[in-house]
Amino acid sequence: MRKINDNYIRTISICRKEQVKDYIDLGNNLEKDYSKKLRRRASLCLVCYYKKRGAHTNSSVRVQCQVCEEKMVFGNSDTDKICQPCANKNYLCKHCGSDVDLKGMRKNRVLTNPNTENL
Ligand SMILES: [Zn+2]
Ligand SMILES: [Zn+2]
Repeated sequence: MRKINDNYIRTISICRKEQVKDYIDLGNNLEKDYSKKLRRRASLCLVCYYKKRGAHTNSSVRVQCQVCEEKMVFGNSDTDKICQPCANKNYLCKHCGSDVDLKGMRKNRVLTNPNTENL
């Protein structure tokens, strides 16, 4: 059985310290929304924009936009739910589908396909 030792304790403590800093940074970012413009432009909600996005696989993953059913390809399994045009049009986070400002209902939200709409 592997027993805990000084070296491990030192390493994990440094690691945890880093994590604490990350959580505090994340908390600050979530509260202040420092990069709001960039975040809105990227069509991501607070959580999806500021949290570190982990890559789970390296093979490409195909999903369909959950609004217009457009096919999208991603380099890992951390895929978006909604394509960029639909996210923009509907004020949604393209990654998780929440409102981009976590607002809930919006009057002008229409979950339709922007590509087939009459212009
Ligand atoms: Zn779409
Ligand atoms: Zn999101």
